[in-house]
Amino acid sequence: ALAVQAPCIELNDGNKIPSLALGTGRGTAKESDSLDDVRKAVLWAIEAGYRHIDTAAVYGDEEQVGQGIADAIAKGIVTRDQVFVTTKLWNDKHARDKVVPALRESLSRLGLDYIDLFLIHFPVATKDDGSYENIDYLETWNGMEEARYLGLARSIGVSNFNASQIDRIVANSPVRPAVNEIEVNPTLTQEPLVYHCLSLGIAVMSYSPFGFLVSRDRPDAPPPRYDDPTLAALAAKYGKTPGQIVLRYLIERGLIPIPKSTNQKRIAENINVFDFQLTREEIASISRFNANTRVIDISHWKDHPYYPHQS
Ligand code: NDP
Repeated sequence: ALAVQAPCIELNDGNKIPSLALGTGRGTAKESDSLDDVRKAVLWAIEAGYRHIDTAAVYGDEEQVGQGIADAIAKGIVTRDQVFVTTKLWNDKHARDKVVPALRESLSRLGLDYIDLFLIHFPVATKDDGSYENIDYLETWNGMEEARYLGLARSIGVSNFNASQIDRIVANSPVRPAVNEIEVNPTLTQEPLVYHCLSLGIAVMSYSPFGFLVSRDRPDAPPPRYDDPTLAALAAKYGKTPGQIVLRYLIERGLIPIPKSTNQKRIAENINVFDFQLTREEIASISRFNANTRVIDISHWKDHPYYPHQS
């Protein structure tokens, strides 16, 4: 198969971000899967044309992500500056003086000397035993600014922040987040938060892009599932799969989807979404699935002062 390139979006700091990323989170990994699958997936993705990889300290796979990138560089497919790498700060490193050392540790695991995008993974700070810590994310943001000032992170942003948390950073800091990475898929369309971020010039990365199209062990979850008739009709019309229809839907909403796969065929399939266009009505028909139902449940943090969700 020919390699497909995702066009880039310009961030509010002038850097360019490829509009689709490979996800490397381990949330859907099966017990039989090994971390080495991540290394292979990253190499396959770069071979298929991906130029953006999403990881996080908490995934425990930064080393394998770095190996996959190194494999691709060794094969002469890309140079370091042609790959955009995103990683994230975990909740137990929110103290200002822990941010830069945590990034240095991520970089050392990745085998990189800078990261393209560094995100605060959640607004919620915890101690290393998981209990709550009352650290203001504005303090954490100061640490992120330092990481950028030192050149260790080219762009900085947040993940899982709500609109008022975004506003509070914008009001209190000279550096705006370049990105907010949040869950967006057909059952959680997030129109208000997406509009809020894009209006402020903050790009939105959409995680768990397939929502409940794929099994999440939640038989009660709302539609659409992979075999949904609305998606099947669009797939037939465009000669694409239901998964590709959903990724295209997100891209046309101006989002940067992060499909995760460790399967070579599906990795190539997921980036092959730049040769067709949905109509406005088709986009609206997918948005109508919205049920405000999340794949990623963090309600165990609901009593934290910075819990981002309504319920
Ligand atoms: P996705 O929505 O990407 O779904 C992944 C699942 O879909 C896997 O089971 C995968 O299986 C399957 N799949 C992939 N491609 C296809 C396809 N074309 N057809 C059918 N099935 C397919 O889920 P995630 O929840 O992993 O989210 C994606 C990424 O977003 C994460 O990996 C992570 O990088 C990021 N993320 C960030 C969070 C945050 O808090 N910032 C939270 C959650 C995720 P297989 O691998 O076998 O193909």
